[in-house]
Amino acid sequence: MASEFPIPASKNPKDFVIATIGSHSALQILKGARDEGIRNLAICKKGSERPYESYGVADEIITIDDWSSWDSKLEEELKKRNAIVIPHGSFIAYMGHDRVKEMDIMYYGTKEILEWESDRSKERIWLEKSDLKLPRVLATPEDIKSPVIIKFHGASGGFGYFIANTPEQFYEVKNRKYPDNNDFVIQEYIVGVPLYIHYFYSPITGELEILSFDKRYESNADSIGRIKAADQLAANIHTSYTIVGNIPVVVRESLLPQMFEMGENVVKISKEICKADASGESKGLFGPFCLEAIVTRKLEVFVFEISARIVAGTNPFIEGSPYTALKYDVPMSTGRRIARDIKEAIESGRLSEVLG
Ligand code: AMP
Ligand code: AMP
Repeated sequence: MASEFPIPASKNPKDFVIATIGSHSALQILKGARDEGIRNLAICKKGSERPYESYGVADEIITIDDWSSWDSKLEEELKKRNAIVIPHGSFIAYMGHDRVKEMDIMYYGTKEILEWESDRSKERIWLEKSDLKLPRVLATPEDIKSPVIIKFHGASGGFGYFIANTPEQFYEVKNRKYPDNNDFVIQEYIVGVPLYIHYFYSPITGELEILSFDKRYESNADSIGRIKAADQLAANIHTSYTIVGNIPVVVRESLLPQMFEMGENVVKISKEICKADASGESKGLFGPFCLEAIVTRKLEVFVFEISARIVAGTNPFIEGSPYTALKYDVPMSTGRRIARDIKEAIESGRLSEVLG
């Protein structure tokens, strides 16, 4: 449901506040708002305020006991301040899609796209229509004949993924560790390096940008190589992908044209799959998004997921990336790019175009 909240008519960014939940990429979102001259607000769960105080990035902190206590009273407080909420990975993880859809506050992004991103089969339709190369999906464990990765739905931060080579290996792990969870997908395991491509599409400028890239630092996938193969077997380590941090990457330059095209296709198809609004136009996907890919030794780019919002892999670039340094004359983080989009939308009387 789109917000029913009447959008303030002011063309002065100082009449608005950029708000987000304290975790994930909130530091750069808050700093980015301030750098663009917009006040900011962090909503923190009790006990998690410290970074926002210590780094001095928050103009205001509202503390709540638990995410379940996010209620209409809090939304009233946000409305009073003309707050525009920026969703990020933790925001969606803590609130859940349904609650996000029901929120009656100004929200940067298209809520409708959440449906396409969170439903695995819809996500696949979207990415396939966008002409991207995807890992094969196996219908049943019996089809496993080469390495596959098993992903449970809603696995948070890669926790609970596992690799199997045969149906027997699959059942050995599944029955021992996840006997009751049957909501999973079996994907062809792509051998290559993971690469997360950070895009930004502004409906205000009409331009698609690539802001930066990262790879992830995952436990224990990134530590297994530190011991020899015999010790790995002896220790009976199952590869897991719990996210711990993010590492910046600069890509081979000749890959860039293809990556721009991939991002453009995803935006174009998003406008076809989202319903048209009263104006007869569909907003589709806008703002920051990320294609999560594996690049093989033949330089094929397999996309295994899309995140339709800011990803935490942009955090190494609070002072900008090598790419944003080429394009902007100020340090441009993804958080700041969002704030600038909002600022330009407010100043040109087009705020409704960036709200979902
Ligand atoms: P947290 O607020 O750190 O507990 O994270 C909540 C969710 O956001 C996690 O389950 C991840 O899916 C995602 N997330 C948080 N931090 C990162 C990160 N640095 N890189 C990728 N995903 C992240
Ligand atoms: P995610 O939490 O979805 O970002 O994925 C966690 C990790 O799983 C990433 O580091 C990827 O490298 C890895 N991964 C996910 N899907 C595949 C795949 N189809 N083939 C190889 N690795 C994958």
